[in-house]
Amino acid sequence: MIQLYQPLNFMGMVYREIKQAIIDIEKMFVVLSQKPEVKDIPGAQPLIVTSGNIRFEDVRFAYDPERLILKGLSFEVPAGKTVAIVGPSGAGKSTISRLLFRLYDISSGKILIDGQDIRNVTQASLRASIGMVPQDTVLFNDTIRYNIRYGRWDATDAEVEQAAQLAQIDSFIRMSPKGYETQVGERGLKLSGGEKQRVAIARTVLKAPPILLLDEATSALDSHTEHEIQGALERVSRNRTSLVIAHRLSTVVSADEIIVLDQGRIAERGTHSQLLATDGLYASMWNRQREAEEAREKLARIGDDG
Ligand code: ATP
Repeated sequence: MIQLYQPLNFMGMVYREIKQAIIDIEKMFVVLSQKPEVKDIPGAQPLIVTSGNIRFEDVRFAYDPERLILKGLSFEVPAGKTVAIVGPSGAGKSTISRLLFRLYDISSGKILIDGQDIRNVTQASLRASIGMVPQDTVLFNDTIRYNIRYGRWDATDAEVEQAAQLAQIDSFIRMSPKGYETQVGERGLKLSGGEKQRVAIARTVLKAPPILLLDEATSALDSHTEHEIQGALERVSRNRTSLVIAHRLSTVVSADEIIVLDQGRIAERGTHSQLLATDGLYASMWNRQREAEEAREKLARIGDDG
């Protein structure tokens, strides 16, 4: 019986491995199929990041030639600083992150990293230099350890756990009986949007890129989760050039500069306190968000009392 069982067990293991590989490849194709044709120019050189300065020079962009989305955008993220992009829904915020990652080529203008036009460097070197924390993180049907290690395959177990600590997801992982060996995905542990984003932050910590690109999740997070994510981000972005696409204003208060985008143009720019003093679009967005948060908290309190 044991003689029969062992090969069957082995075949079962092989089957599971193959199935896992197929699921991973499928996920990869989903990611790749979202990427339109962007090609390396002949003789493209690798990007050399010296200090990590990012410049957008009069950038125009349209997904569809009839509708210009970014209408001549110029800004700079100085090396090691954090710039946040805010603005009404549909203003073009996430488009900026896609362009920096070169998922699309711009219609005119330039995007430069340390003086190198991103169209002239290899895509592989560009993406290796940028730690992207996307809105929707793809998780694999594997252990949570595997999912974090995806940031850097040769990371040791201890490094994976340190990254998780920095991303403030370690204690959540340890609450599961199997800890880091807990399966994630369809048949395993399902992670919330905020937890997934912290896994993405942990991956980025392992990757340790000179440039950080965060496209904040649009979905509302409870204030505790939001606070945890913010703490994780602040630690990760310290001394790294960071471009934050913010859908919630609470994330941007400490940014070195906030750019307020409206219909593909810069409407206002400055620090949080400068923009509040200007009493323009940012101030009204801030007040509206504060009122919405207060109303939400009041409702939650009524719910708790009742
Ligand atoms: P939100 O805060 O709602 O996420 P956003 O400021 O990030 O908005 P973008 O996602 O950059 O906005 O989109 C800007 C505009 O570009 C929107 O009008 C959107 O409909 C359009 N758009 C976005 N992606 C595509 C696409 N792949 N093809 C065509 N149009 C697109």
